[in-house]
Amino acid sequence: VREENAKFSRLNVIIIGGGLVGSLCACVFAKRGYKVTLYEKRPDPRKTTACNGRSINLALSHRGRKTLRLVGLELSIMESSIAMKGRMIHPVAGETSSIPYDLVNNQCIYSVGRNFLNQILLNAAEKHEGVTLVFKHKLSDVNFEENTLKLINQETKEIITETADLIIGADGAFSCLRGFMQKRFLYDLTQSYIEHGYMELRVPASRGHKLRNNHLHIWPRGTFMMIALPNQDSSWTVTLFMPFKQFKSITDPEKLLNFFSNTFTDALELIGKEELVQTFFTSNPAPLITVKCGQYHMGDRFLIIGDAAHAMVPFYGQGMNAGFEDCTILNNLLNEHKDNVKASIEAFSEQRRQDVHAVCDLALYNYKEMRDLVTTRSFKFRKTLDGVLSKWLPEIWTPLYNSVSFSHMEYHKCLENKLWQDKVLKRIFQMISTILILVFATIIYVFLSVK
Ligand code: FAD
Repeated sequence: VREENAKFSRLNVIIIGGGLVGSLCACVFAKRGYKVTLYEKRPDPRKTTACNGRSINLALSHRGRKTLRLVGLELSIMESSIAMKGRMIHPVAGETSSIPYDLVNNQCIYSVGRNFLNQILLNAAEKHEGVTLVFKHKLSDVNFEENTLKLINQETKEIITETADLIIGADGAFSCLRGFMQKRFLYDLTQSYIEHGYMELRVPASRGHKLRNNHLHIWPRGTFMMIALPNQDSSWTVTLFMPFKQFKSITDPEKLLNFFSNTFTDALELIGKEELVQTFFTSNPAPLITVKCGQYHMGDRFLIIGDAAHAMVPFYGQGMNAGFEDCTILNNLLNEHKDNVKASIEAFSEQRRQDVHAVCDLALYNYKEMRDLVTTRSFKFRKTLDGVLSKWLPEIWTPLYNSVSFSHMEYHKCLENKLWQDKVLKRIFQMISTILILVFATIIYVFLSVK
């Protein structure tokens, strides 16, 4: 066995993409004793101040934390994150109200800075002897027959050819590796955009204390919404999600300020009029894409993970968490298959497909919940009912949000569980209505007979 282990312990791996998932995957493989070379097309983010153009902070939950724990990083990351124990709802007029995420065990999701997280992961990966990080190298060509890659040095334009025992594409929602897989025979892939885009705004630290901490703030407005997540320096990252058409219709500062003062009155004060106008007219709303693939591996060595495998809209806060979970699942499969790459990546496709398709659907559903349903009485009633039932029947009743964010239940089972719960509640309400009707009818009958 020792000989067998020694043979496999130095598998040679290439990871394309040094974002959140690629850099964490490098740590997981380094811990397995693999030799890892990570290629990232951008410059080293630890040496630049520019943000990579996407959400400045993200919500970290159970699935992501599990993989961070696997590589010993959970505690240091949690120490620099901010707990969000519920949603704080801002109506158009009137008082804000808090809806806790977990009424029974008070579990929270955590706001963590993207750049901070990426830097910690890259530092941790680099500390391992077997890991080499190569920046400013962009994947440009893939040959699945010869198991080779071509990468372009972004500075010198020199092209290098590489190969490895296992080649991971963690190169994001517009993955180059996935693009080459897509051209192969019978490769299934669907890609869809929603009609809404997003734009990031900011509440500066000087006014941040006016928003109640330890919450994810939401301004639900039916067909669109705005949210805010806290940062370590007391500022808040605010994200406006709205149809592109609506973004386009706001053509000058007066229209913008009118729109905000009518729709997000309290937020306007916090963001600041000047800052709002400046940010709104110097940035473009970004698109939101969902990508579902039929398989994630190709040939004997290639695998895509993270957004490359399953980009989703951000409304369940699961994109990164699911990508981190990919790393745990791959690690388990490599254990199970004794480092046999082919068997592990094939099993990954088989095991993961149903789950990541389900979470892509859940993420789309949650947009409706966040921008609209949270304001309805039926939503609040269901939340309370779920809380009561999960307290009484913790083994049987796990509310959807809890199963997605605070458990490791496979995503497709979370969805099935929710559909089963809906059916059970529907039956119970039907039974109660029938009993009430019968009781009422009996009372009337008795009353009329006596008369
Ligand atoms: P990326 O972070 O996109 O990293 C891919 C990397 O690959 C990049 O560094 C890129 O430069 C590099 N690359 C690309 N092409 C090449 C190439 N050809 N050669 C070499 N390198 C290449 N998720 C959550 O879990 N919680 C949240 O709260 C949350 N909020 C979000 C809010 C918004 C507005 C958005 C847009 C997303 C949010 N997400 C959230 C999703 C999360 O951002 C992604 O799921 C996560 O970043 C995926 O990580 P990744 O490493 O797979 O991809």
